[in-house]
Amino acid sequence: MPAPRTYRAEALVLKNAPFGEAGLMVTLHSREWGKLRVVANGARKANSRLVGHLEPLTLTRLLLARGRTLDTVVQAEVAGTFPNLRAGLAAMTRAQFVTELVDGFGSEDSPNEPLYELAVDTLSVLERDPNRDLTLRHFELHLLQVSGFMPELFHCVECRRSIEPDRHRYSVDSGGTLCLDCRPAGAQVSPLSLRALKVLRFLHRSRIDELPDLQTSPAVSREVTALLAASTQHWLGREIRSNSFLKVLERSGEAGVFS
Ligand SMILES: [Zn+2]
Repeated sequence: MPAPRTYRAEALVLKNAPFGEAGLMVTLHSREWGKLRVVANGARKANSRLVGHLEPLTLTRLLLARGRTLDTVVQAEVAGTFPNLRAGLAAMTRAQFVTELVDGFGSEDSPNEPLYELAVDTLSVLERDPNRDLTLRHFELHLLQVSGFMPELFHCVECRRSIEPDRHRYSVDSGGTLCLDCRPAGAQVSPLSLRALKVLRFLHRSRIDELPDLQTSPAVSREVTALLAASTQHWLGREIRSNSFLKVLERSGEAGVFS
């Protein structure tokens, strides 16, 4: 029996771009199919009803038709929006950081429902409290987990012994904590403070919608931020563009310490 010509998807719109004369190329992460790049023909025409359902940061229910190279949008219906994330530069920048990483880590070849749920949960928490960087750190660590790159936080990645307090370092490319005795050839090794390790373990075991305020120093916040940024960039294999916008926010005093 031939595959059905149409299929349904529940998806988060990550970005869109003009395509052809009046169409849109829409990049989505769907619950059912993973990442999708689909075309909405005629969406940029003045009388089109499609475009409002395909804006970035929209949750949408879609009916899609299989095409020879690209699938097309037959119907789209908004299932949820995040108005506070569009309301200011700081909130928008954090939301774009989330969508950029979901775009980067999502795969067009395999569904990843945990990644879809992580993205929606993170945006929902940011929608209620858009100025909290701890939400983004939680997102990065759990993004690594649902993508199969969860860093080791309890044992030495080389000799497998339990990590003892204050006797640890961190290696992005070896995949997590190292004891002081191990130094794998060629590995990038950085210092890791006990407080930063505790923050990482805390983020790992916490739910994103129940994160309390953490009384950490700016130095520990910076250490955790830098370590997670290095880990996501390493596994993604390229710079994360929205990181530079987040740094601008940090310098302007709108971001920084975990509170
Ligand atoms: Zn070791």
